[in-house]
Amino acid sequence: MIIDGKQIAAALKADVASRTAECQAKYGRTPHLVVIRVGEDPASVVYVRNKAKACDEAGIRNTTTVLEESCSEERLLGLIAKLNADPDVDGILVQLPLPRQISEANVIAAISREKDVDGFHPLNVAGLWQKTPHLAPCTPKGIMKLLEAAGVDPKGKRAVVIGRSNIVGLPVGKMLLDANATVTFCHTRTRDLAAATREAEILVVAAGRPKIITGDMVSEGVVIIDVGMDRDPETGKLCGDVDFASCAPKAAAITPVPGGVGPMTIACLMENTLECFLQRVK
Ligand code: NAD
Repeated sequence: MIIDGKQIAAALKADVASRTAECQAKYGRTPHLVVIRVGEDPASVVYVRNKAKACDEAGIRNTTTVLEESCSEERLLGLIAKLNADPDVDGILVQLPLPRQISEANVIAAISREKDVDGFHPLNVAGLWQKTPHLAPCTPKGIMKLLEAAGVDPKGKRAVVIGRSNIVGLPVGKMLLDANATVTFCHTRTRDLAAATREAEILVVAAGRPKIITGDMVSEGVVIIDVGMDRDPETGKLCGDVDFASCAPKAAAITPVPGGVGPMTIACLMENTLECFLQRVK
């Protein structure tokens, strides 16, 4: 089974759109997301454009603010402080990565936790790990929704996560743990990656290395979630961390790239923006 992230994301976006459509009548305004981009990193330009498009589709008011590459940290923090205080703004997203002169940690911590649609603020991270109310990061949240839509219950299963980043690997591992999976994290220092991945009943790959997981590294019946967004060194086309051609025949279910995790991340961003709005108008 190919897990159709595009379709599952479209359903979630449609649900957010119908709930957003009720906001104007109920609360006198609609959710408002502000996306800040610093500089002209080509990938960031595309990501920010896609986020604005998704907002339009979901009926979410959105503003994109672009600051020049040489922008100081002070100036960005000043803008964030203004948006934090603006009652008309529900969500703030600063597109990463940021230019070298700006500390990402300082920027993430500066965004009000109530408007932190990415779920990266230290208090939201703490909420995930302490099981207290929080905004969940979009990609891991989307992965859990993909598993649910595919009818995969992690309970009791052996889940292997490749990658331990703050935005994907660590939080998705914690979410799988909370869903009662037995979780193993793999990373660049893992001694025998194939031995670990062959044990997996659920395999989440977020390494950022094109096609590092091949068919001989997985067992029959595995469920594979490919988070990677890489360039195929041979074709130059977008590909995942998983070699789809050799893994798909052995997998019970697998996400494609593109059309898997990517669309879900954006749909979850829409849902988080609506959640922020609903918390604030309460
Ligand atoms: P990152 O570079 O911060 O982390 C990568 C992790 O993978 C590290 O923990 C590293 O130890 C591990 N790793 C790298 N190479 C490895 C190898 N050969 N064997 C085992 N472990 C290895 O990356 P990230 O921000 O977590 O993103 C991972 C990938 O997911 C990237 O391709 C990124 O573009 C993609 N991504 C996609 C979405 C989406 O919405 N589809 C969202 C976020 C990230």
